[in-house]
Amino acid sequence: MRTHRVDWYHHLPPHVKGILTTLQSAGFESYVVGGSVRDLWLGLKPKDFDLASSATPEEIEKLFARTEDVGRQFGIMIVVTEEGSVEVARFRADAEYKDGRHPTGVVFSSPEEDAKRRDFTINALFYDPTKGEVIDYVGGIEDIEACSIRCVGDAKHRIEEDSLRMLRAVRFHAQFAQSGFALDRNLIDAVCALHERLALVSRERITQELSKIFLSPRPSIGLFDLVQMELWEGVFGKAVPNSGTFNRFDSIGPLFLSQFQREPGLPLYVAAAARWLSGWEPEKSLVLTKDAKAAALAIPKVLPKLANYQQLSLAEKKLFLNERFYPEAWAVLFSESSGQAVDALHAMELDRLRWHAEKRLDPPALVNGTDLIALGFSPGPDMKKILEEIRMAQLNEEIDDKQEAIEILKKRKKSWISA
Ligand code: ATP
Ligand code: MG
Repeated sequence: MRTHRVDWYHHLPPHVKGILTTLQSAGFESYVVGGSVRDLWLGLKPKDFDLASSATPEEIEKLFARTEDVGRQFGIMIVVTEEGSVEVARFRADAEYKDGRHPTGVVFSSPEEDAKRRDFTINALFYDPTKGEVIDYVGGIEDIEACSIRCVGDAKHRIEEDSLRMLRAVRFHAQFAQSGFALDRNLIDAVCALHERLALVSRERITQELSKIFLSPRPSIGLFDLVQMELWEGVFGKAVPNSGTFNRFDSIGPLFLSQFQREPGLPLYVAAAARWLSGWEPEKSLVLTKDAKAAALAIPKVLPKLANYQQLSLAEKKLFLNERFYPEAWAVLFSESSGQAVDALHAMELDRLRWHAEKRLDPPALVNGTDLIALGFSPGPDMKKILEEIRMAQLNEEIDDKQEAIEILKKRKKSWISA
């Protein structure tokens, strides 16, 4: 065991400090653990802070006003505060693994045992803010300094226990490759030897890890890993890996963010992968949200409209630029285009940005159902059609105030009703 002095106290959110102090003052040995300690050492902002402690779930319930039971049998509780929720897990070791994924039980134990059950050494560090030190039972600090993603203990044994660790390794590689991290040789060899055991991992967990690979700074590194360590088929089924397209996955996220001022999400990457990985059937290999499915389906629908954009009417252009997955489709096409196609995509975006700034892209409707009823129209499917026609006239900039819309409605009421 080695300890390292650190001065991170000011990086901890007040509620995390508060929970730790309460636990420690009541006599329970308690630390910040896992990914957040790794991130603090790397100078990155942790997404969340997990705690490990000697306290039992019942003791946690006594100490804190609001708690949630998320896995009492594993010693895992959530402490809820106004500022946020924090997971507090009891130090534990895993009992035997039988199905290649889950331990048959847990044994409550010491911090050292708890460090040894963790997947990679960089994820197995303990931080004690009160003493200002990091406790390292597994050589995690040396590995962080050497930029090495290495299993705690024997790589083959740890993957035989839990096959998900193969994908987690790829995911951490994609997340930290920018800081120079590489997979340890023994880990690579173990994954290559055991790649078929990915079949033991559920589609839900594969989707979660692939999603983190896509949303990492270097998805291409993860995709190359999947090919090189023969995990590709287990993730993407029969899709052909085309490594020539992998680097596009690295640039599409930043492109999307800068063009549309929106964080890229899984739908963007599923749409891109459905197009760039030939033969990939997203729904067969992943468990997708409705949004991600819809985004993948949107691209083929958007393509013909993109090609004909200049021929569309003003209203049709605006409707197209407002379509739900237009940004995703635009980013996918931009990433793969060159020459005139790029010019056309730029022109389209200039329209969108200009019309948006001038509030002409999606102005509030001039009339609604209530207006139509007041004019003597009867509710029904025709009313929807009439409202759509007025909307198109508005988007075409043929009319621009409510009175004009009402005049048209009055004049044409008879013909609409008889049609
Ligand atoms: P992130 O920053 O993406 O949340 P993380 O390291 O916190 O990364 P989590 O999936 O949140 O990863 O898991 C928290 C910690 O639990 C890990 O750092 C690791 O110590 C441990 N852990 C999680 N999954 C496993 C696993 N399958 N096998 C062993 N240890 C695991
Ligand atoms: Mg985490």
